[in-house]
Amino acid sequence: MKDYYVKDLKEKVGEEIDLKGWVYRKRRHGKLVFVVVRDSTGTVQTSIKKQNVPVESFEAAKVVDIEASIHVKGIVKEDARAPDGIEVECTEFLIISPSPDFPIQEDTSSEALLDIRHLTLRTTKARNIMQVKNGVIQAARDYFEEKGFNEVFPPIMVGVAGEGGGTLFSFDYFGQKAFLSQTAQLHLEASIFMFENVYSLTPSFRAEKSRTRRHLTEFGHIEAEMAWCDEECNEKIEEELVVYICNKIGEKYSDELRYFKQDPAYYHDMEPKFERITYDEAISIIQGKGLNIEFGSDLGYDEEKVLTEDFEYPFFVKNFPKDIKSFYMKQKGDRAICADLEAPGGYGEIIGGSQREDNLDMIIERLQKEGEDIKNYEWYLDLRRYGSVPHSGFGLGIERLVRWMLKLEHIRDACLFPRTPARIYP
Ligand code: ATP
Ligand code: MG
Repeated sequence: MKDYYVKDLKEKVGEEIDLKGWVYRKRRHGKLVFVVVRDSTGTVQTSIKKQNVPVESFEAAKVVDIEASIHVKGIVKEDARAPDGIEVECTEFLIISPSPDFPIQEDTSSEALLDIRHLTLRTTKARNIMQVKNGVIQAARDYFEEKGFNEVFPPIMVGVAGEGGGTLFSFDYFGQKAFLSQTAQLHLEASIFMFENVYSLTPSFRAEKSRTRRHLTEFGHIEAEMAWCDEECNEKIEEELVVYICNKIGEKYSDELRYFKQDPAYYHDMEPKFERITYDEAISIIQGKGLNIEFGSDLGYDEEKVLTEDFEYPFFVKNFPKDIKSFYMKQKGDRAICADLEAPGGYGEIIGGSQREDNLDMIIERLQKEGEDIKNYEWYLDLRRYGSVPHSGFGLGIERLVRWMLKLEHIRDACLFPRTPARIYP
């Protein structure tokens, strides 16, 4: 590993340094070559003057390709004309490994960039997105840690559906049918009897054929489950978590936010007082915007787009009709005790949460109505047989959150290696 990085060079003016990285840009003016060096923390301009370096160094700088890995030695100089106010005057320039015809150009199409995602990861845009994503994950863990939650690692290979048959990936598990987990929820529910407040960070899998800008077939899922917690308590945790993450990102990643033309203060100053509206109010807002939606329908991409466009902050939509929600949600009359958190500006759902049904007979009845084989759910039903408690929980889509925060065109930009119906390569 290196002892210091590009970001540290500002503190080293006048010193002799040693820097490893990749060629970001290159220009030549006769006996002078400028090479902009990139590492994981930024870029710095280096100048290679023919009279200051060994012959081989100047020849190497003349022919070096974009994205070749290099090792330069030199002195850090203040230079008002350089982008960061410093420049490295080289005393030696070595190519570690060449990079002939690096395939990314200014005009490479977005599909072509996805075909070479393993190389696209080197771009400033991808790096900045992944930096913020890393910040989101760290902040979420910090929040849960501060609140006394325990992190658990639920299984990815499961025997039952969490969210219903439509979007399940199945596979053969030694002669038995198994699935890739759509949610960790059912296994988190079992874990609250040990830890009371638990969370997990796992990939979730959905065979979503709808190719919207916000659906992946594999996504990062932050899920939490709390014992002795009703709907208000659930919404409070969701709101605090999202605001905690936003505040941290606004504070620590202002450069990355500005790169995406986002105001760090919006995130930094956000407060946990999101608006709550009912499903019925949501329906009338959507109808008022001229969309043809009937009471009792679920909110899809188009509906959430118009619903959220005029809000300034995330907000909850509560009390959906029970028939369009999952079997495990607790009910009150004809409604489910649930809330989705919607991101403003047309982005739509980022969290789905609910109070869970804690009554054994109600769950059995619902599973039977949905045509599920009760046998597969015996273990889950045991949770209601032995000391059942009121409890609630939620799932937050990490890439949905990052997409909204950075206003990304498509959710796949928020993935290291996106998985969509049309893409499993690279
Ligand atoms: P949608 O209606 O948008 O498909 P959902 O109601 O199926 O979402 P949940 O089952 O409540 O979503 O999942 C919890 C969270 O996981 C969602 O709020 C969202 O942030 C995220 N999520 C769900 N499906 C996907 C997906 N296919 N790609 C990316 N994130 C997803
Ligand atoms: Mg879905």
